[in-house]
Amino acid sequence: VKKQRIDKVLSHMGKGSRSDIRKQAKQGLITVNDAVIKDSGYHVDPYTDRIQVGGEPVIYREFIYLMMNKPPGVLSATEDKRDRTVLDLLKQEYAQFEPFPVGRLDKDTVGLLLLTNDGQLAHELLSPRKHVPKTYEATVEGEVDAADVAAFAAGVELEDGYVTLPAQLTLMGRERGSKTLSQISLTITEGKFHQVKRMFLAVGKKVIFLKRVSMGGLKLDEQLAPGACRELTAEELALLG
Ligand code: URA
Repeated sequence: VKKQRIDKVLSHMGKGSRSDIRKQAKQGLITVNDAVIKDSGYHVDPYTDRIQVGGEPVIYREFIYLMMNKPPGVLSATEDKRDRTVLDLLKQEYAQFEPFPVGRLDKDTVGLLLLTNDGQLAHELLSPRKHVPKTYEATVEGEVDAADVAAFAAGVELEDGYVTLPAQLTLMGRERGSKTLSQISLTITEGKFHQVKRMFLAVGKKVIFLKRVSMGGLKLDEQLAPGACRELTAEELALLG
């Protein structure tokens, strides 16, 4: 295992900035295998060395896996000059792991967003060859009908000529008013830019509300308030494996 600077390890675990840790080391608060370490550049194996700060053991882990219920109006990017991003919503105890969103949801799209610092898992979930299913619920203007269901099952041609893979569209309900609105559920196994909205445009309909409810076997926890996030359970993480 690669050794790392103890200030890096401790800041990853939320014990403060590197300069905070330098001060704590100087004060003799940090021990490694019971020896006081005054040099914050000291190298440790974070998994096998016994590290304590102020007598408290520090249990190291590298990765974090978070489920967010993305609210509308924030970008699923890591930084942006103008807009707030999902990272701005993270509590410090999560932010210290430097997670990033796995894939993108549009600014106005809500629901399940996975954040992690595990690049390999992110890569696998996003790989076009893996065809990880993603299920969305949407409100669509107009009457979604059996012809649309059949078209989505066959694959629709987007405005750029791309033909989508078979997708499962289910009509959940209709609301009649000055305009008819259809509530639908749609499962796709790829992730082209604005895919769901563009698929409906291909059949002449407009998506006015879009929410992702699942990704792979992982389902959005409906108890999560918009903008909140929590760590995945071990069972949930296994579903993504
Ligand atoms: N499809 C879209 O059009 N937008 C999203 O945010 C996700 C899927």
